[in-house]
Amino acid sequence: MVSKKIVVGNMKMNLTAQEINQYLKEFEKKEISKNVIICPSTIYLPYFVGKKFQVGIQNVAAYEMGAYTGEVAAKQAKSIKVDYAIIGHSERRSYFHESDDIIREKITLALKEKLKVILCIGETEEERDSLKTYKVLKKQLKTALQGLDYKEVFNIVIAYEPVWAIGTGRVPSNLEIHDTIAFIKEIVEELTQHKLPVLYGGSVTDTNIKTLNKIENVDGYLVGGASTKVDKFMKIIEVVVPQ
Ligand code: PEP
Repeated sequence: MVSKKIVVGNMKMNLTAQEINQYLKEFEKKEISKNVIICPSTIYLPYFVGKKFQVGIQNVAAYEMGAYTGEVAAKQAKSIKVDYAIIGHSERRSYFHESDDIIREKITLALKEKLKVILCIGETEEERDSLKTYKVLKKQLKTALQGLDYKEVFNIVIAYEPVWAIGTGRVPSNLEIHDTIAFIKEIVEELTQHKLPVLYGGSVTDTNIKTLNKIENVDGYLVGGASTKVDKFMKIIEVVVPQ
């Protein structure tokens, strides 16, 4: 377990500039821990940096800076004081066909720029039903972490996000999450000789967070949909990282 848990809000491609302003106005009225990391759409990042909480970008390019129209380089994110990069989210893997090799490239570039990495891994429903969860997680971890300078791995946080639980309202049992996180921690230590924090993500809400927060080996939560609503997100934060 890390000394203090982490809460990550992945806002995905949601909210207009006006809604973001309103969100921040409400959000900043509260005492917010530095262990909260908000990941808005890339164009809104400048509104979020330099506040009480930390900030993450939802994706970075698999290239250094240059002629890659529409992409954002890790170096550019770092240059506006972004703290974290989410890499390997299941929506990137499925809609944008990101392989484990591309994900490793992105991790390498992010770590080089001293961005901390939130590496997302998780099995699909089909993989779960055919009892391949552990095999899939091991492959995702092995490919993503292989060849990294293991002195840098301290800057990686793993987020276990079963694909079938993302945005569906379906959540594994506490025991299933516990056992899968224990497995991930074991593999990560085997691969890197280091202990890394492991978060759970997938339909975390203000109504199930108290139950989820009882899992003793979870180091925090990655919240998608519920992070776009200040009141819901605040309730989650108050349970996980009370001030
Ligand atoms: C996510 O996008 O990583 C996520 C966990 O989404 P949700 O909380 O909406 O399931």
